[in-house]
Amino acid sequence: MSDDLINVMQPSLGERELAAVREVFESNWIGRGRRTAEFETRWAEHLGVGREHVVSVNSCTEGTFIAMELLGVGPGDEVVLPSISFVGVANAIASRGARPVFCDVDPHTLNPRVADIEAVLSPRTKAVVILHYGGHPGDVVAIAALCRDRGIKLVEDAAIAPDSRVDGQACGTFGDIAVWSFDHGKIVVTVDGGMLYVRDPELAARAPKVAYLGMEQRSGFDQAMRANTRWWDFDVTSFSRRSTTNDVLSAIGIVQLEQLPEFVARRAEVAAAYDEGFAGLAGLRRPPRLPAGHRTSHYMYWVQLAPELRDVIARDLYARGVYTTFRYPPLHQVPAYGWETPLPGSEAASARTLLLPMHQGLSDGDVRRVVDAVRDCVTARTTDLAA
Ligand SMILES: *Cc1c(COP(=O)(O)O)cnc(C)c1O
Repeated sequence: MSDDLINVMQPSLGERELAAVREVFESNWIGRGRRTAEFETRWAEHLGVGREHVVSVNSCTEGTFIAMELLGVGPGDEVVLPSISFVGVANAIASRGARPVFCDVDPHTLNPRVADIEAVLSPRTKAVVILHYGGHPGDVVAIAALCRDRGIKLVEDAAIAPDSRVDGQACGTFGDIAVWSFDHGKIVVTVDGGMLYVRDPELAARAPKVAYLGMEQRSGFDQAMRANTRWWDFDVTSFSRRSTTNDVLSAIGIVQLEQLPEFVARRAEVAAAYDEGFAGLAGLRRPPRLPAGHRTSHYMYWVQLAPELRDVIARDLYARGVYTTFRYPPLHQVPAYGWETPLPGSEAASARTLLLPMHQGLSDGDVRRVVDAVRDCVTARTTDLAA
């Protein structure tokens, strides 16, 4: 195995982030303060929404748990999500005593179609949670319309869609609540962190309390608080956990967000080079084309292979120093969720799909190495299979 392994995902953190962290250290205010407020404001501007609708959290998963609480999801409720989803979403639903109901996905886009969601709605459906697979917006516009018509809340897990849009509107702003992730494997990286968007003004006003111990937000950083006597008094409005972040991580986030356009532009170049490099390659299917008006964040580049070859080719590529993976293994096959109905689209997708290295740190040489390795491995194994 080659010792210069090409990572499948990789953050870009450097001198600018270190300088921002140094500044926070020197300010002697490392907790939640000015930098966190600024990151929230910048994120709201990036989305094109009012600042009061955006709340920072310490992970996207925490954001999802908060979303379920804000929507009042509880025992007897059903929440629909694609089987190809991040495990934390199903946990957020199940932890409230509600039932995760898995819908199927299109086997090529790995996103659910409107019909997939409609097929599993019931009078108990309280909410639908979708993600934007690979960064592709998917049928979010039609799914949002369906949910509105049926009086069902829509949550967008926009973890991997920080810069995905439909006709200019940011993914995450089509539904009622959205969450983003800034963990080590995402595009905008704060090491760990997340953001929450809440459309309803009353729920948006509650969100910061749910994110902080169910308390009215009080901090010595707040000048108005310091003017009061006994700023240490508090009241509890829900039995919540502490899901807040801090200025060290938020300072990193501000610098990362500034670079998001460059990151996505480089990812687009990598995707275009892969598209060209794999054109006409027998045995490999490239990712679907984006519909007109859709913009992707290029979080993933996925190819599809014969099910009997996918794992073998992943190992061949690893031996050549190219690390690949598959996200997200189907949740309907995880026994803990107690699901029994087959979902053929999700099963086909999870047997065929392989994620190739995709990040802004890839050099042109890395991209060539990946293309050559994939072409060689697929050709060799496909010829074997045909023989
Ligand atoms: C990474 C990821 C999450 C979870 O994000 P964390 O910040 O690590 O909690 C949720 N959904 C999707 C689609 C993800 O890829």
